[in-house]
Amino acid sequence: MAKVIPRKPLTLAERTYLPQVLGGLKTTFKRMVSPNVTLEYPEERPVIPEGYRGVPTLVKDPDGREKCVSCQLCEFVCPPKAIKIFPGEIPEDAPTAHVEKAPRDFQIDMLRCIYCGLCQEVCPEEAIFLQEIFSVTGYTRSELVYNKQKLYELGGTLPDRHFKWEKKRQAAERGHQH
Ligand code: SF4
Ligand code: SF4
Repeated sequence: MAKVIPRKPLTLAERTYLPQVLGGLKTTFKRMVSPNVTLEYPEERPVIPEGYRGVPTLVKDPDGREKCVSCQLCEFVCPPKAIKIFPGEIPEDAPTAHVEKAPRDFQIDMLRCIYCGLCQEVCPEEAIFLQEIFSVTGYTRSELVYNKQKLYELGGTLPDRHFKWEKKRQAAERGHQH
């Protein structure tokens, strides 16, 4: 059976609404003399804190080479299924032929992305990073599905932390000598 909770009657002061009005005015007057808490965006830009998770982007290594090997781990782990990868093969005579694959296309739907950073965490090649970009705008839904070219434009080049490719290449070269 439903339990009826009696509603507390309003006091005389509450019935006049004065405490609520005065409470609101107190906040208004306090803000009139305190430093600004708002920004004149876009002329003024916020300071982005370290570790901020903005738009996920694809990055190249310091030699301008594509790092993504289209392993699809990020696509698999992405909770809202915002990533779509179209894997492609690297031709044998390409300078990066020591890895087999690179994405033919790589799409991230910025309307689905929840900026969780799992793709960055899972990537074995340090190829995808959430950078400081926070302003995502467009007129249509389709232009907010960023393709590979756009993702590389936004991502640029980041310092390679562990030179995995160089190690792989050296290991491959040593393998050929034996
Ligand atoms: S940040 Fe999260 S939601 Fe966005 S693409 Fe990466 S894994 Fe998916
Ligand atoms: S970005 Fe990283 S995890 Fe995603 S497909 Fe490329 S190499 Fe794999």
